[in-house]
Amino acid sequence: MTDETLLDRALQRLETAASHLKIDQDVIEKLKYPRETTKMRLLIRMDDGSRKSFLAWRCRYDDTRGPTKGGIRFHPDATEAEVETLAFWMTFKCAVMNLPYGGGKGAVQVDPRRLSKSELERLSRAYMQAFSRVVGPDRDIPAPDVYTNSMIMGWMADEYSQIVGAVTPAVITGKPIALGGSLGRNDATARGGYYLVRHLADQLRLPAQHRVVIQGFGNAGQFYAQLAAKDGHLVVAASDSSGAIRRADGLDTAAMIAGKAAGQSLVALAAQLGAEVISPEALIATECDLLVPAALEDMIHEGNAASVQAKVVLELANGPVTPDGDKVLESKGVVVLPDILANAGGVTVSYFEWVQNRQGYYWDLEEIHARLLRIVEREGGAVWDIASARGISMRTAAYVHALARLAGAIEAHGTQPFFVS
Ligand code: NAD
Repeated sequence: MTDETLLDRALQRLETAASHLKIDQDVIEKLKYPRETTKMRLLIRMDDGSRKSFLAWRCRYDDTRGPTKGGIRFHPDATEAEVETLAFWMTFKCAVMNLPYGGGKGAVQVDPRRLSKSELERLSRAYMQAFSRVVGPDRDIPAPDVYTNSMIMGWMADEYSQIVGAVTPAVITGKPIALGGSLGRNDATARGGYYLVRHLADQLRLPAQHRVVIQGFGNAGQFYAQLAAKDGHLVVAASDSSGAIRRADGLDTAAMIAGKAAGQSLVALAAQLGAEVISPEALIATECDLLVPAALEDMIHEGNAASVQAKVVLELANGPVTPDGDKVLESKGVVVLPDILANAGGVTVSYFEWVQNRQGYYWDLEEIHARLLRIVEREGGAVWDIASARGISMRTAAYVHALARLAGAIEAHGTQPFFVS
């Protein structure tokens, strides 16, 4: 896929949502382009004494509803268009959940697995040095994303605090607990998705015990499996980058998580789990109630969507179903719970972290879970109602819900009719 189609595709969602709302053209004009994208070259000293430079970006897509918020990814294929598209998604994700944020995103074009730990620390600190005037607790608040983690967030928070001369944990979220991170952040993405499915289970006509297939057994996928198994649901198939495994009467999720933690792949664990190894395409076609893509973008597309057997798809990954894939699923009556709603538990608990940092008072885990549940049920229920009332998909309804909030904020600044009439 070219960079252009990535951003264009995202903008198609905006246009579709706009067609369901009476909003001023000024709103679309504002949301069609990123407000600010800063590109820098980070120059760091490598362990062998040489210097190496890496391209880096930070995009603040729209800040009408509050400071921009979004992760920083370290990836060799990162591009400016990808960063801007992800920042666009964040704008809508924060609006769907009614978090007082706009959308942002950052990236460094690097393969972090080729760096030593000290090189990784120097790169993380260099990112903060380069973007210290872009970010800030009231301006733009980064978080972890692909190949970045809590330790990296801790280094970045420390670097920022040194630059401004004041301890400023609220500049970044996803920090280690010892440095002002929030309880409940590690499983928040999966938990948000889980609360959503549980809340809508009757409307989605899911059986009391449902069969789940998880594509991508990483952070989000493993925590989802754990929560589902704890409530008595069956995880009947799962995959990671090594391949896929299946067991019709349910996989032992605790053994899978322990095996992954010990560095084993799912395929390597198959025999111990009494599971059969299947192809990645067979995973998507597995008989189940709920399919949870939790790996990468564009995994369910025109070529394989027809084989989906699930009643419901929960997008824990960002953008796992392509627009063409969406059409096929819709024609089959499969309900897709869209990424900007389904995986927004992560940014919601990031918001809690920022609030706790600013107030200097920290909540216990029960409080975090209760607050997350309230927001997921409120916004998930609202999106369901919009979808039912208008006869539109949950994805379009989520965009409509978010766009109505964004439009309200943009219009509150005054639009064309105010200035010309
Ligand atoms: P992760 O790196 O921990 O896990 C990704 C998993 O996908 C790994 O197990 C990997 O082996 C697997 N994978 C890679 N290629 C695959 C393939 N072709 N087929 C099957 N599996 C494959 O990442 P994560 O943090 O769990 O994120 C997963 C997705 O969820 C991403 O799209 C991410 O943007 C999204 N997401 C994560 C969070 C979060 O808080 N972790 C928040 C919002 C969205």
